[in-house]
Amino acid sequence: MNERWNLKNRKALITGATRGIGKAITEEFLSLGAEVFIISRNEEDIKTDLEKYRSKGFAADGMKCDVTIAEDREKLLDYVSKNTGGLDILVNNAGSNTRKKTLENTSEDLDFILTLNMKSVMELCRLFHPLLSRSGHGSIVNIVSVAGMTSVATGSPYAVSKAGIIHFTRYISVEWAKDNIRANSVAPWYIRTSLTEPVLSRKEYLDSVLSRTPMKRVGEPEEVAAAAAFLAMPASSYITGECISVDGGFLKYGF
Ligand code: NDP
Repeated sequence: MNERWNLKNRKALITGATRGIGKAITEEFLSLGAEVFIISRNEEDIKTDLEKYRSKGFAADGMKCDVTIAEDREKLLDYVSKNTGGLDILVNNAGSNTRKKTLENTSEDLDFILTLNMKSVMELCRLFHPLLSRSGHGSIVNIVSVAGMTSVATGSPYAVSKAGIIHFTRYISVEWAKDNIRANSVAPWYIRTSLTEPVLSRKEYLDSVLSRTPMKRVGEPEEVAAAAAFLAMPASSYITGECISVDGGFLKYGF
């Protein structure tokens, strides 16, 4: 039975793995027995993290890769195909937000957000489909946001990108079930990371976030990582096309 609740003999690729939620997912996966391949745009961060993981006896590899650049994505596929001996899990986590009101977002803001949060995710799913299918139990986990399901006041391009990926995930869950690939997403509300530090450090902003959060606290990266791990492991083998919110009750809080 315990074999269903770990990631032994699973190889996972995690994007945006050097900070915040991606780093927590990496460490959760390693602790559950996975071999992990990490990417971000900063080579030094990758090197430091790999040294740390390997010194503790974990199986980890990685490379610098900007997921928004087609050539980088191709190089990533090439390296992973030749060096990891397969892939079972793809976690699309890299993402960002401009947190501007709709009329303040420029055309460049739209390109930046939609390319990073939406196009790169769709492209990586497409590129890694053959490897994931060959594994016989492929699992895609896309990190989205509660902003993809309801208004959170700012960041409409971000919200659209996350809503797009929630629906894209449903689509591929249906199309690729026959290819032995499950696809699910995880939607966090506010989690303490470098992305949210600038807004959460403002007391009045934090207070307004907490006033809308039944559990009266923001989340920790590990709490998102746990949901991602569940969706990647054999324990969730009949779950596909779902979106799990990790939000302290935020989405259920009506009146
Ligand atoms: P952080 O900004 O703390 O970390 C982002 C990670 O992604 C870093 O490792 C960063 O490294 C990497 N990254 C950024 N751009 C690229 C790129 N173009 N190519 C490759 N790697 C990249 O973000 P969070 O951990 O807070 O967020 C992770 C995900 O969770 C995002 O998709 C975000 O939308 C989502 N999310 C976060 C919430 C939160 O409250 N924190 C709430 C809801 C959703 P580097 O800059 O060196 O490339």
